[in-house]
This record gives sequence, C-alpha cells and structure tokens, in this order.
Amino acid sequence: MKVRYSYLPQQFGQIHDLLDAIAKFVPTGDFTLGAPLREFETRFAKLIGAKHAIGVGSGTDAIKLPLKALGVGHGDEVITAANTFIATVGAIAEIGAKPVFVDCDDTFCMNVSQVERAIGPKTKAIVPVHFTGYMTEMEPLMAIAAKHALPMVEDACQAILADIGGKRAGTWAAAGAFSLHPLKNLNVWGDGGVVVTNDDAMDKKLRLLRNHGMRNRDEIEILGYNSRLDTLQALVGNWLIDQTGDITAKRIANAEYYDAHLGKIKGIRIPPRQANRRRVYHLYVVFAERRDELLAHCVKHGIEAKVHYPIPLYLQDGLRHLGYKEGDFPISDAHATSIITFPTDQHLSREEQDHVIKTVREFYSGR
Ligand SMILES: *Cc1c(COP(=O)(O)O)cnc(C)c1O
Repeated sequence: MKVRYSYLPQQFGQIHDLLDAIAKFVPTGDFTLGAPLREFETRFAKLIGAKHAIGVGSGTDAIKLPLKALGVGHGDEVITAANTFIATVGAIAEIGAKPVFVDCDDTFCMNVSQVERAIGPKTKAIVPVHFTGYMTEMEPLMAIAAKHALPMVEDACQAILADIGGKRAGTWAAAGAFSLHPLKNLNVWGDGGVVVTNDDAMDKKLRLLRNHGMRNRDEIEILGYNSRLDTLQALVGNWLIDQTGDITAKRIANAEYYDAHLGKIKGIRIPPRQANRRRVYHLYVVFAERRDELLAHCVKHGIEAKVHYPIPLYLQDGLRHLGYKEGDFPISDAHATSIITFPTDQHLSREEQDHVIKTVREFYSGR
C-alpha cells in the first residue's frame, strides 16, 4: 500500500465549477488586484476573525511586508525560532535585518522562557512561529513583548485555524502571516500569501507595500515591492476557502487517531498535547527511537514519511554568517535526530493510517 504525503490531484479532481468561474474571469482582464482578490480578502479576514486581510505574493512576503511596515530594517535584530522553515529567516534577511534564534521546546515552538535573554539593544521585533500547527505560548510572549515595547509578526503559515482558548493564530500580534503554498492546509495553485491585521494603519501600509508603494497610478507614497496575490489564485482560494474548517477538522481527527495508536508503541513518544489549545497538524510529528531506521522502514513500505528537518536551520551552510555553532540550540539539535513526520493529509483513509500504524508497530517489535 502507498501512503502519500499529499493528495493534490484528488483535492482538485472535481473542479468544473472552478473552471467555469475561471472561464468567466479571463475575459474580464481584471488580473491584478482584481475583484475576486477583494472577495477572497474579505472572506479570509472573516475566516480568521481579523479585521483586515491583505493578499500578497507568498507566505515569505506575508512575514516580510509587516516587518517592513513596522520599520524593521538594516542593522536591526529580529528574534525567531531556531527550528523554523527557512522562509521565516529569509523574510527577516530580505529587509536587511539579522535573525536571532531562540531554541524550541517539545511543542516545536519557540521556548518563550528563553526570549528575554535574546533581547538586546538592536532587537526590533519578534516573529513567533506556530510550527507544525502548534501555537507558540502567546500569553507570556505578549507580556514580554509589551514589557520591552517590541512589536510582533506571527508566522502562522502552518497554523491556519489553530487557537489558544479560541483566539486564533495570526490575531494576537501586530500582524499574522499565512501561506497559500500548495502544501499548506489552505492552498492554491502556486505561490501566495495573506497578512491579517486588526490595525487600520497597518492595513493601509501593507496595501501600499505590496503594490510598489503606489498611492495611485501616478503617485508613489513610499518605496514598496511587487508582491500582490494573483487574482487568478484568489479565484482558487474563493473556491476552496469554505472547506478550510473541514480540512482542519479532518487533519485533527487523523492526528488523534495516530496519537491513540502510535502512542501505545514502545519507541514512539507523542509530544505534549496541552488542553485549551487547538493544534491543526500542518505536520503530524512524533519522537521516534532509531528514527533513521524507522524512516527507511516506512519508506520501504510505501509510506511517504519525512523529517522536518534533519539539519537544524542554524547549522545550515547558507546561515553560517550568523555565527552560530553546533550545540547552541540543544532542543533543536535533539529534534533533528529524533522527530519523524507521518502523512496526515485530509484525504487519508483509515486503511492508509492503519498501514502506517502497523508498519511502525512491526518495526519496533522486530518483525
Ligand atoms: C510555508 C512557510 C512559510 C512561507 O512559505 P512560502 O513558500 O513563501 O509561502 C513561512 N514560514 C513557515 C514556517 C512555513 O512553513
């Protein structure tokens, strides 16, 4: 049996109504900042429970543009999580700022108790990453940020519809960043991103920044970027957005099924599942003894298991200039050798999940 990581052909298998909408849209020529984009932004803001949503070119830009709007730039330091995906760091670096890492904990998010010692005179902002679909401990982090007067941008790219006590990822900080990349929980047919904010001034600035800083066709208010969400992708987003709740619920149900069965296997440890939190399992990650052997065993049995990520970000060649050395972030290091990601796509069947569970069980029982 083959258990795939992603099921994009199935997800976009029945799209006659979407193709009809595209056929109607193309003759309008409304390709940049078009009416369907406005519709998508309104619906996205409503979905998240934020006042504004601004469509941008990618999830990376959804982090970069609000940082820029907050005045972060050359020589500034931005605190983020040591175990994040490279895009978070790329967004910080693109505006000339320096990423400063804080180690994660076993929820794969920044260990908030270590943030204060990373704050220095050059610190200008904090970017918590709600990694895998867990949320960063926002309540204590908000208190630290307020004490030091540091604005925050949430990297919620893996955490659409996650929440703490009902308050959603992306709505805590000055702005929240989402990605619409094909592998994300709400996905389109290419790159795309969305920023949400409750701040009218931030909304206005982001709309300028994504469109060359143009107030109108003839006047440039500030220097900006070319980073608009394609109107065509917004049509895909409009087609899909009402399914986000069901997609999320299915991924959570898949994760709970895995937890109940994998949790009984000696050799597997389920990460802490705190109460009063909604985790949305962009990635279903557990700790595994003899991880590399288990991974090879799963792949051999047709399971597209993965590791996010085998090389800690702070030790990557491309980030050597930051000056970090092995051992600086021991929890991130430990995760790099002990975590494994099992497929948790919303299209997975129980039979496929049972195949994963059986394969893992057989590995540890030596059969
Ligand atoms: C996907 C992702 C991003 C943004 O990626 P894009 O490919 O630019 O949309 C940022 N941060 C994290 C943690 C991500 O997983």
